[in-house]
Amino acid sequence: MKDAPRTAALSLSSSNETEEHPLRYIKGVGPAIAELLAQKGIESLRDLLDFFPFKYLDRRSLTPIKSLTPGPDRVTAGRILTCGIAFGGRTRRKIFEILLGDDSGAISLKWFRFNPRQMMGGFKKRMGLLVSGEVTEFRGVSQFIHPTVQVMDADVIDEIAAPGIVPVYSQINGLGQKILKKMIGNALELFEKSPQEFQDPLPDSLRELLHLLNKMDSYREIHSPNLEEDLNKLANFRTPAFLREIFEEFFLMELGLAVKRKSAKKEAGIPLPVSETRAAEWKQSLPFRLTGAQERVFSEITDDLKGPYPMNRLLQGDVGSGKTAVCFLSALAAIENGYQVALMAPTEILAEQHFQNARTFFAPHKVPVSLLTGRMTPAEKKKGGRYLERGMVPFVVGTHALLSEGVKFKNLGLVIIDEQHRFGVLQRASLKEKGANPHILVMTATPIPRTLAMTIYGDLDLSVIDEMPPGRLPIQTELLPEKSRRLLYGRIGEILARGEQGYIVYPLVEESEKLALRDATQMYQELQSVFPKFTVALLHGRVSSDEKESVMRAFKSGEVQLLVSTTVIEVGIDVPNATLMVIEHADRFGLSQLHQLRGRVGRGAGASTCLLVGSGPPDGLGMKRLRILCESQDGFRIAEEDLKIRGPGEFLGTRQSGLPSLRIAHLLRDYKILERARKEAFLWIDQDPNLTQYPPLKKALFDRWGEKLALADVG
Ligand code: ADP
Ligand code: MG
Repeated sequence: MKDAPRTAALSLSSSNETEEHPLRYIKGVGPAIAELLAQKGIESLRDLLDFFPFKYLDRRSLTPIKSLTPGPDRVTAGRILTCGIAFGGRTRRKIFEILLGDDSGAISLKWFRFNPRQMMGGFKKRMGLLVSGEVTEFRGVSQFIHPTVQVMDADVIDEIAAPGIVPVYSQINGLGQKILKKMIGNALELFEKSPQEFQDPLPDSLRELLHLLNKMDSYREIHSPNLEEDLNKLANFRTPAFLREIFEEFFLMELGLAVKRKSAKKEAGIPLPVSETRAAEWKQSLPFRLTGAQERVFSEITDDLKGPYPMNRLLQGDVGSGKTAVCFLSALAAIENGYQVALMAPTEILAEQHFQNARTFFAPHKVPVSLLTGRMTPAEKKKGGRYLERGMVPFVVGTHALLSEGVKFKNLGLVIIDEQHRFGVLQRASLKEKGANPHILVMTATPIPRTLAMTIYGDLDLSVIDEMPPGRLPIQTELLPEKSRRLLYGRIGEILARGEQGYIVYPLVEESEKLALRDATQMYQELQSVFPKFTVALLHGRVSSDEKESVMRAFKSGEVQLLVSTTVIEVGIDVPNATLMVIEHADRFGLSQLHQLRGRVGRGAGASTCLLVGSGPPDGLGMKRLRILCESQDGFRIAEEDLKIRGPGEFLGTRQSGLPSLRIAHLLRDYKILERARKEAFLWIDQDPNLTQYPPLKKALFDRWGEKLALADVG
């Protein structure tokens, strides 16, 4: 890399006072307001213009009070001038009356039948009201009789003087909508007066290709929408302006990811070549033939391994798709070349499981395998550590304990991380530090669509095992209403009688940990009394991890036949004799989560069953949604349905997404745009790797993502 000094334009810091247009140039922004805005991260004119409305109100059909004419379907709005019970007409009957006013005049709203308590309690002077109904004339004066009214934010009602489509911004403490709108209006004006100073971050060629609005039109449309605009489209962020902004946000992000990947490819790696014959021999040693998908993924990995750069690959495959065999084979490639391999699992029990499997797998290859977990005594750890440091053990399986400072390797060539979402990016980095740019393989069972995965895992290449090993019996999945306890016990009794085991899971809903615990405890006691001849165990978030491990171990060994649990059963746990999975309150959970839970059974030769117990009505939305699980075993298909139903935040979970948050683009809602933006961004970087062709693009990229993606200067 060149060591020329960075110019100001390439500054990696985000916009601030050094920016050409700090806020103080905008009319109406004094120091006090600037301070309020700064608290929301709004520090420049650009930031202010990027503060988008979160919704719009349609005021187009609203009539000022003075202009109301008799007739049906009249809509108006104003503030309450007076309200109360009056006595009207010859009969002196009780009337509830509101006098509503706006800048143009006042009108009376009348109710002859009403609940006095409700009316007196519901309306107050100065309250804003949106009113609709028929306007009638009484002695030459217009009035509404029994109109439909809606109490409105007084701040919003102030907008009514100017009917149209009214943008609504999220609240900034101490700043009214009116002031905010005025400032944004002034900012727009400033922008329009000196367009040459605010260059569009998107190059013309790209905008023309994709028919995207230019930046100025886009800002104008968003902050003061055209009266002809389709409100539906506005509400769903589907107007040309929003589509452009969404594209821009994705495009810049993907550009950042592309830059990051390019720079990773500049590091020197450890070439680990493998001959075809050796690879074939290794495969021969397996008790089964690799599936087509496993073959393909294995060759993607060996291609990476033999190359000059470190591999950074995500291996995605549904539960049970056979990721382990692929990762062990890949490990052999490193070991064959004289390098060490570390496999990190998220829990002790999973590490132990991998360790057992590894011993079986590596035995014919005469490769010693060791285990390193937090449970081991200091002496054991020390001894294990010494072996690793001297290079006597080529393959180690472990938990977080592998990350501890004392653990050193002689020559770590490949790092494998199971169940990525339990580990953060930083942990990945710290394991990597233990070698000199080792290759990295991350395995996950969370099925997410390709572009999404590549975006979330940013700097990783992706391999997918999209085929199940043959002969898998599908897991028979059924919905069971909450009330059918007897039926449920019957089903449990059947598998117990066959000498098989079962899980009863109360997946955790955050707010109701207590409830889940209560339910699980009750069930535990109940099952003990219903099945006195069998051993039932209870697992929940409050037991120590030691106790948890020992319960899991007892279940694995078969001492315990029924496991009632509040917490999600360990991801990836393999107990082939467990053939029944009961999931309580299933209607409250995401399909993908349920699919993962279900994947805990169906691991042996026998047929397995999953019972989804739901409390909702069988035809209700919650239960209906679950049908897809009865019909499909395909994690990707289920994930897609899940994505349609739920938002990405929920789907991905905050833990999993190492991505900085997006302003308006939405990974799922705008998935199609994301795909296009990614394609265009990678094409752009291919033909303009140093981003010199269009400076505003580079500037926008570093302003927006420089810090967040830790981008190195590409210049
Ligand atoms: P996961 O992808 O969930 O980690 P595993 O690697 O644990 O899946 O594999 C699940 C089971 O399938 C294991 O018992 C494994 O031995 C078996 N398996 C893996 N690949 C094949 C294959 N190609 N043919 C038959 N069985 C396989
Ligand atoms: Mg696994």
